[in-house]
Amino acid sequence: DGNPEPSITWLYNGKELKENMYTYTQLITDSGDGSVKHGCLFLDKPTHINNGNYTLIVQNKLGRDVATASGMFMDNPFEPFDPEGIIPVPTNKSDLDVTENPESRVFVVSVAVGLAVFTCAFLLIMVLVINKCGQRSKFGIHRSSVLGTEDDLAVSLRFMNFGTSPPSSDEDSGLSSFVENPQYFCVQHIKRQDIVLKWELGEGAFGKVYLAECANLSPDCDKMLVAIKTLKDANESTRQDFQREAELLTMLQHQHIVRFYGVCTDGEPLAMVFEYMRHGDLNRFLRAHGPDARILEESKMPPLGQLTLPQMLHIAAQIASGMVYLASLHFVHRDLATRNCLVGEGLVVKIGDFGMSRDIYSTDYYRVGGRTMLPIRWMPPESIMYRKFTTESDIWSFGVVLWEIFTYGKQPWYQLSNSEAIECITQGRELERPRTCPKEVYLLMQGCWQREPQQRMVIKDIHSRLLDLVKNPPVYLDILG
Ligand code: AMP
Repeated sequence: DGNPEPSITWLYNGKELKENMYTYTQLITDSGDGSVKHGCLFLDKPTHINNGNYTLIVQNKLGRDVATASGMFMDNPFEPFDPEGIIPVPTNKSDLDVTENPESRVFVVSVAVGLAVFTCAFLLIMVLVINKCGQRSKFGIHRSSVLGTEDDLAVSLRFMNFGTSPPSSDEDSGLSSFVENPQYFCVQHIKRQDIVLKWELGEGAFGKVYLAECANLSPDCDKMLVAIKTLKDANESTRQDFQREAELLTMLQHQHIVRFYGVCTDGEPLAMVFEYMRHGDLNRFLRAHGPDARILEESKMPPLGQLTLPQMLHIAAQIASGMVYLASLHFVHRDLATRNCLVGEGLVVKIGDFGMSRDIYSTDYYRVGGRTMLPIRWMPPESIMYRKFTTESDIWSFGVVLWEIFTYGKQPWYQLSNSEAIECITQGRELERPRTCPKEVYLLMQGCWQREPQQRMVIKDIHSRLLDLVKNPPVYLDILG
């Protein structure tokens, strides 16, 4: 944050870091006049050779600020003197020059062989680790999507408002220690004595969710309502998952991702503190605002008005906006569905859950091979058949979310059993156009459901198309009456 526009330089272990396609600075927002920059240093698939100290130097003609964070990506998977683990790193330009000198050719070939051996060993270890951890960690963040198999692994070292903030506390470990601004990056610790539970909001797969009042969260108000997610029966490994996931949640900050305030770890149960979204999950909200609201047993209150087309488009555009953000971080959600979105005051919708809702919506998941639960009705053929989850498979799920919105929260393929639904999806059958859905919106759904992942629409285009439709909603006549 600086005026005039500051320049940004990264050092790695004290030497200037040369950016390339695997290590690069990416700005997420820029104030326009260049005085405020928000962004990250991205490291694509970092390994132990990227461990070290990362220093950010920000300077303009008025001054300079420097901060260093240490990055520990993984332990060296090799024995200390294992030749496979030692990768010759070119130190100067001449090392990189390919000449006809036979010695240098031998050198290049041995580097290539070394790299190939290393890559194979690394992939093997990653596959073993991912299989061991399972696809999903205790708190539901998709570890393999974060640790990247096919997906890009982007670990971000953020520098939002770098330089103007006080030094971080030293309580945190892992990713959070990379970042210097406690307000943005370090996992905040909230004191138990600041939390007063009010009542239960629901139950997720990992514990109860409560409405609570929390003091000292923001300087503008002394108490605010929050949702507290508790972790029951924490052991050492669930504690580690908990810490790691809190660090990841801290990094996800966007107006359409539910805000994560921090953790409460003094005493039991461990808890995560989120912003409170008054109207709960979007699936329940859609049903309560649909034609069947009256007959749904849970709606004891008088039926609320049915959602209008502009409102549905507004809901969809907000989820798309959150997905644009996740895609920009190469974060694959894997379980995008209306049950995992939350609705707040004024029809604000946010992606609110990274897969913790398996208990209440257990019929939305298909149990395969013991513990794994898959949301098959939201999954494209390649995820069902090969467990391949990518940004493109998230797009498919987004199409299903659109369908859910326009059917007021119906379950996709509700008329079919899990195995019948799998058959339909893999054979290429599409969900039908909902009665209240204009053709412009159904075209978007179909753009998400292309069998070939690369042919699917990209989330940025879907988002801008939805924004256009919000501005000029199509005229829709429900000719069926
Ligand atoms: P989860 O464990 O995320 O599935 O949460 C269980 C239920 O608690 C959800 O279905 C929501 O109705 C409710 N809930 C979760 N998070 C929040 C929140 N931030 N604000 C309000 N209600 C929430």
